[in-house]
Amino acid sequence: ILEISGLRKSYGPLEVIKGVDLSMKPGEVVSIIGSSGSGKTTLLRCINLLEEFQGGDIRIDGQLIGYKTSDGKRISLPERERAKNRALTGMAFQQFNLFPHMTALGNVTLGLRKTRGMGKDEAISVAEKWLERVGMSQRKNHYPIQLSGGQQQRVAIARAIAMNPKLMLFDEVTSALDPELVNEVLNVIQDLANDGMTMLLVTHEMRFAYQVSSKVIFMEHGVIAEEGDPKEMFHSPKSQRLAEFLGKSK
Ligand code: ATP
Repeated sequence: ILEISGLRKSYGPLEVIKGVDLSMKPGEVVSIIGSSGSGKTTLLRCINLLEEFQGGDIRIDGQLIGYKTSDGKRISLPERERAKNRALTGMAFQQFNLFPHMTALGNVTLGLRKTRGMGKDEAISVAEKWLERVGMSQRKNHYPIQLSGGQQQRVAIARAIAMNPKLMLFDEVTSALDPELVNEVLNVIQDLANDGMTMLLVTHEMRFAYQVSSKVIFMEHGVIAEEGDPKEMFHSPKSQRLAEFLGKSK
């Protein structure tokens, strides 16, 4: 469902993704771990087309996204086309980014109406289904400020998934939460994984990565330094760097 080959991304002179290949099958759950600045967030942002990238291809469900080639030249797609490509994936962020002036329900229905063109009743029924799925039915008429961080994050996840993306991207979604709220969000993600949702997550929660993933990727300085089965990665890391990283994260 996801095919990345030779991805390269620079911010000005600083190259932060230096040739990444990654493929995922439907229903697969892949976690990306690695130290700060290794390029994990940037990789997700490239897949979601929040960033331009300078080299390599990203295909989602066989479709090349973000740019086309003409006369051998790489040309970025116009924003309208990029927005269409962007809708193939859903993303949840460290900061939940809910609209503060809208209720939980309003936050989830907005994209369904504006982007998916659903009528009001249909949008409400889809939104209610997903809010229930993340355990937020009781608080659907609350505004973000009336919700805890964990609750806001669950609404943000419902909002992204309601759009029916092919692939969900989770970028350190528990990093901004108080420790006692982390599990309610991880439980929601675990549930969605059990239901067969395809997801790629950047996380600092090593135990969770171990539990939920079919594959773990260790990024270092913009490349995939090691990847494999979570059991092998965590119990018998091949590289010294991964062993050190896991040692520090314990
Ligand atoms: P963290 O775990 O701290 O979020 P990360 O592995 O997700 O780290 P990235 O956020 O992808 O790392 O950042 C990779 C590198 O790119 C870092 O050196 C960072 O300083 C740099 N970088 C990220 N965003 C920008 C930007 N908008 N402009 C310039 N440099 C950036």
